[in-house]
Amino acid sequence: MAACKICQEAATNPICPDCIEKEIAAWLIETRPDLVPGLQRKTDELYDGSGETKCIICNQNVGVCSYCYTKEIFKWLDEYEPDLPEFLLLKNFNHHFHY
Ligand SMILES: [Zn+2]
Ligand SMILES: [Zn+2]
Repeated sequence: MAACKICQEAATNPICPDCIEKEIAAWLIETRPDLVPGLQRKTDELYDGSGETKCIICNQNVGVCSYCYTKEIFKWLDEYEPDLPEFLLLKNFNHHFHY
């Protein structure tokens, strides 16, 4: 089992950043559509498609675990939109991905 390249943990329910990005983008389109291109850039920065663990949704390489990916994305979102209700995003996110 390959580990996440950021935290070195092996994910139990590996979901790749691309699949998570889609969920976050769907939510941003409703709230801050102007941030969607930045989200895509940030995802590219964090995730290069490498890794040995396969995503349980789309079967591509995971490389960065959902925990580290969302942590980085929330940090990034916070710089642009400190008032963005993060708990709403988390709630929405956890509705899809239980981890
Ligand atoms: Zn990680
Ligand atoms: Zn995936």
